[in-house]
Amino acid sequence: MNTRPAIGLFGGTFDPVHFGHLRAASEAKEKLGLEDFRLLPVGKPAHRSQTYATAEHRLAMLRLAVAEHPDISVDSREVRRSGVSYMVDTLAEIRIESGVETAIILIVGQDAAHGLTSWCRWKELFDYAHLVVMTRPESPDNFPHELEDFVRERRAGQVTDLYQSPAGLLLDLEVTQLAISSTAIRGDVAAARSPRFLLPDRILGYIGFHSLYRQNPLPPKQK
Ligand code: ATP
Repeated sequence: MNTRPAIGLFGGTFDPVHFGHLRAASEAKEKLGLEDFRLLPVGKPAHRSQTYATAEHRLAMLRLAVAEHPDISVDSREVRRSGVSYMVDTLAEIRIESGVETAIILIVGQDAAHGLTSWCRWKELFDYAHLVVMTRPESPDNFPHELEDFVRERRAGQVTDLYQSPAGLLLDLEVTQLAISSTAIRGDVAAARSPRFLLPDRILGYIGFHSLYRQNPLPPKQK
């Protein structure tokens, strides 16, 4: 029995959202026992020079993806906020809204966790939230030294540990990692190949209707 309220946040560019994200989100939600589970599209990412679809389109696609799944919501605050989106600001805002007792659980993939030390004021993330890292097979197993040193004392052994405090721990969580990436989907669309069955049909329809990703200025990166 979990002792405190908790919020799960799954952040990403979702450019576009696909079944890899959705399956991982669903499993993470279930395994973490979260009732309040939010997909959090980054507005203007600090880590990439660009997104391919506008924040409004990425948000609209996310909303379509979960329209029939009311247990998963979309938190649009970063899209609504002007300027570069920093996760630490977002978490500070959600902490104020949710109060000091609520466990805030930020869920990221292994690839994102590996880049964590380049995030703005990254150590402060742990003042506001727990971090759950979803394993992704093709990424190296060890975190960079700086992150490993920082989290050594903060490792949680199991999900229930996250409910003992509102923030500050890191937990590895195994979830199914489907071999799907937004990069590959954008590459398919740009090359006039069909990415069907990699993402919900209604999102494919949205991409077609709005002529998204037809121009893909960068080659798809290998994942
Ligand atoms: P891109 O190819 O543009 O880099 P992406 O497919 O990796 O995009 P993001 O929006 O960057 O998607 O990812 C958001 C979060 O979802 C990240 O934490 C990432 O690790 C995770 N993620 C992405 N693809 C998958 C997948 N296939 N299975 C599980 N998690 C994933």
